[in-house]
Amino acid sequence: MVACPRCGQPALYAPANPSRPFCSPRCKQVDFGAWANEEYRVPDATPERPQDDETI
Ligand SMILES: [Zn+2]
Repeated sequence: MVACPRCGQPALYAPANPSRPFCSPRCKQVDFGAWANEEYRVPDATPERPQDDETI
C-alpha cells in the first residue's frame, strides 16, 4: 500500500489497481488535470544535441 499522491488515502499499489499510485480513477484524473493545466508547457524531453545540420 502506498499513500495516494492526491488525497493521501492508502492506495493499493498492484496491477489490480489501474489507477496506482492513486487510490482511485478520480484522484488520478484530478491530478493529471492539474498537471495539464499548470504545466501545459512541457519542456522538450529530447536530449540536447548540437545543431550540426547547417553548421558548415
Ligand atoms: Zn486518492
